[in-house]
Amino acid sequence: MTIATTSFRIRRVQRCRHERPRRAEAGRGWRFLLSLTSLVLAPVVVAGAEEARAIERARMVAEIRTMITQTRGQTGVARLSAHVEAAMLAVPRHLFLDDPDDPSAYANHPLPIGLGQTISQPYMVALMTELAAPGPLDRVLEIGTGSGYQAAVLAELAARVETIEILEPLAIEARERLAAAGYENVRVHAGDGWHGVPEQGPYDAIVVTAVAEALPPPLLEQLRPGGRIVIPIGPAFGAHDLMLYSKDAAGAVSERWILPVRFVPLTRSED
Ligand code: SAH
Repeated sequence: MTIATTSFRIRRVQRCRHERPRRAEAGRGWRFLLSLTSLVLAPVVVAGAEEARAIERARMVAEIRTMITQTRGQTGVARLSAHVEAAMLAVPRHLFLDDPDDPSAYANHPLPIGLGQTISQPYMVALMTELAAPGPLDRVLEIGTGSGYQAAVLAELAARVETIEILEPLAIEARERLAAAGYENVRVHAGDGWHGVPEQGPYDAIVVTAVAEALPPPLLEQLRPGGRIVIPIGPAFGAHDLMLYSKDAAGAVSERWILPVRFVPLTRSED
């Protein structure tokens, strides 16, 4: 019984093969053509999407350049250096947003990243990076990881970036995004950045992306002689000023006012 059923099945299969040879072959032909087309087109579609993002980044950098020129009277920054522009052109900002398909991923304004926080305006990221001036052998500390975008820009330029975020879910997400985007020289810490990250210091540059009422003394301590701190200073809900602190070789600190800004507050942990 079993044998008969089996042979019947085999016969049916064989008959089917013989019955519709032309259609089967024609179907195979189409399938082959389709898979060949998708094989050829898939990289074109991906390359097309990447090219479109690169064009958006180039447009974003052009806007940043214009703003840098417009604000140079205040900031003293006449133009972005070539390597800062290259970093802004390189970092895939859309990958640091909640929705990577957000059409305003490369618009020159801040965007929400959840938990009431924001990814800074690209102009501000570029300006702060220019002022921090990270060199290829430098260790950099960022306070306020947020999305991880500013950390990625710094990681394009410095040897090593330590970044600390007080909201643990954001720290975890940023860690994942930075790893997915291939940044291996960034370490994301979860905690209160007011204290800095002393165990990894001293640092050649420190970038603070949340507003503090005054410069946190631990950050100054963790700054190497010859280093720079870029930080917004002001009351949590009021006018903020972007400041640049520089420590000379002898350890003397000087400050420079850059321009009025608006940032989310540097909050403090309870301990
Ligand atoms: N640099 C970020 C944007 C920062 S928004 C980016 O590129 O996306 C400021 C961030 O600072 C927020 O995520 C906020 O949670 C964080 N923050 C506020 N106070 C902090 C503190 N004391 N220590 C560390 N991070 C802090």
